[in-house]
Amino acid sequence: VGYRAYLFQQRVKLEQADDLVGVLPEGRKRVVVLGTGWGAMPVLRGIDSFKYEVVCVSPRNYFLMTPLLPSVAVGTVETRTVCESLRSMLVGKKIKFYEAECQEIDPKRKVIVCGENHKVHGDLGTMRESDKDVSKVVAKSSSRAIADSTRTRPSFELEYDYLIVAVGAENQTFNTPGVKEHAHFLKELPDARRIRAAISDAFESAAMPGVSADERQRLLHFVVVGGGPTGVEFAAELNDLVNEDLNLVHKKLIDDVKITLVEALPGVLTMYDKSIAEYTMKHFSREHIDVMANTFVKGVTAQSVKIQKKGEDISEIPCALVVWATGIKPRPLVDDLRKAIGEAVQSNRRALVTNQYLEVKGADGIMALGDCATIDFPKMVESVKILFEEADTVKDDRLSLAEFQALVKQKAHAYPQLEFFTDAVERHFKEADLNADGYLSMEEFHALLDKIDKKIKILPATAQVANQQGMYLAAYLNSIDPNAEDPHQFFSPFQYKHMGSLAYIGSDEAIIDLTGTKLFNLALGGRNAFYLWRSFYFTEMFTMRTKMLLFSDWMRAKLYGRDISR
Ligand code: FAD
Ligand code: MG
Ligand code: MG
Ligand code: MG
Ligand code: MG
Repeated sequence: VGYRAYLFQQRVKLEQADDLVGVLPEGRKRVVVLGTGWGAMPVLRGIDSFKYEVVCVSPRNYFLMTPLLPSVAVGTVETRTVCESLRSMLVGKKIKFYEAECQEIDPKRKVIVCGENHKVHGDLGTMRESDKDVSKVVAKSSSRAIADSTRTRPSFELEYDYLIVAVGAENQTFNTPGVKEHAHFLKELPDARRIRAAISDAFESAAMPGVSADERQRLLHFVVVGGGPTGVEFAAELNDLVNEDLNLVHKKLIDDVKITLVEALPGVLTMYDKSIAEYTMKHFSREHIDVMANTFVKGVTAQSVKIQKKGEDISEIPCALVVWATGIKPRPLVDDLRKAIGEAVQSNRRALVTNQYLEVKGADGIMALGDCATIDFPKMVESVKILFEEADTVKDDRLSLAEFQALVKQKAHAYPQLEFFTDAVERHFKEADLNADGYLSMEEFHALLDKIDKKIKILPATAQVANQQGMYLAAYLNSIDPNAEDPHQFFSPFQYKHMGSLAYIGSDEAIIDLTGTKLFNLALGGRNAFYLWRSFYFTEMFTMRTKMLLFSDWMRAKLYGRDISR
């Protein structure tokens, strides 16, 4: 009752605000936000919707808690737990939402073209070729036809003053034959739903009378491609499902179940601390998850994967289900925008290049964040002369330790690579002072900056990055004074604060990597990490509603097992 009353109050407030339209700032600028994912959501929640006219365009009218997707794919967590209706999250804000897909961005006219929304996800998730045909047939004959007819929405154009591009990315397949048609991605909610159905199918088929031993082994062989967090977590969750639930209901089949994880690199979770990769490998071998490292997938068919271990011949392994989690590539929309701006400026084929304020280079009023964007951090050596002169306050053409320390302090915001040096400025100064005269000459300074610039890292494609960028952008937009000559003047550049990484590795164990954070230098695997993992998601989950759902899902799975029906 309390919540409903709250919603009602918010609506009344908005209606009152509508009466105040005259009071709204003259010539409000329009901010168009593309997407409703990790990057877009904090922008929408944080932006001052009275200062700007805010319009959101996305083919998905809900936010998706991607980190729990592997749990959804095996039924530990229910689908409705990991999504949150966009419209209810934005109650109390004056934000227009159009459920549509942005198909074209014209950076010169500052206009976008939007249209029907089933090209990106539809309700088929990241669509597989084979499903498209099925959907056509189904649509003709059933209620799907009605659903599809409501989906024929008109195209429209939208002008913007600021465009926030947070459209995320697509699955990378490296053009491996058969992947689009036969493998399952794990990126959107319908993907998880479909994997769950496929697992159920495989077991039910294997339980049919008259199935040969070979066929049974094929049906019970599950292959995961990609040893990053998504692949590892899915393999772990699947193994839990087999050991905790399917072993009870499909007792006779259990001995034939096999889970294989294929990874092109020498190991899994290579982006994390070394000890974590090793811990996970050991844990997986205890759990009988077969990790095939240094192995490339050459093709996927309806009933097998073709793999090649480094230096060996191609072999074909029969299997029932292939889950493809090998990373991301830019969406066509992002590629087209890059080309429209010009590849001389937008030279990174993987993402839109922005400055440290997340403004897309070479375009006016476009900002980008999350998986579709990358920040071009400025190199210090490029401004070596200016920096030297600025720092040399005593004007003796050399830098004392005090001068250098002042510079580091002053520039830490503009050059995040300095962060690694702030703890040991004196030591680095001494190391750089090759002739040991207690000062840095121009040459010595130059060499030191070179070393510092090596610390520039591109930010990973994670929810953590997208989320922080979204919060930053909202604050930045709110602070922009339309009359100021340089909007950057009063706002410092985006700085990423790494809070560590967590991943579930099965059997109530997780890994946690806090190396590279300012908290602790700690990498940990095991049961304690698992509790941290759970409490983290529990506190991170967006609303009370989803928290309640998640809690009851976890309880249900522990007490009654997972729902293993289709
Ligand atoms: P997304 O969150 O993907 O949002 C993109 C949005 O744009 C969506 O709403 C989409 O519908 C919309 N869109 C697409 N095309 C268009 C268009 N043409 N016009 C308008 N809108 C469009 N990260 C972590 O930090 N920790 C984790 O544990 C973790 N686990 C993950 C597990 C899985 C299974 C997956 C798939 C990802 C995981 N990630 C994790 C990564 C994280 O989800 C992404 O980095 C994050 O979602 C990126 O945010 P984004 O806003 O850039 O893109
Ligand atoms: Mg987004
Ligand atoms: Mg998302
Ligand atoms: Mg000096
Ligand atoms: Mg010297």
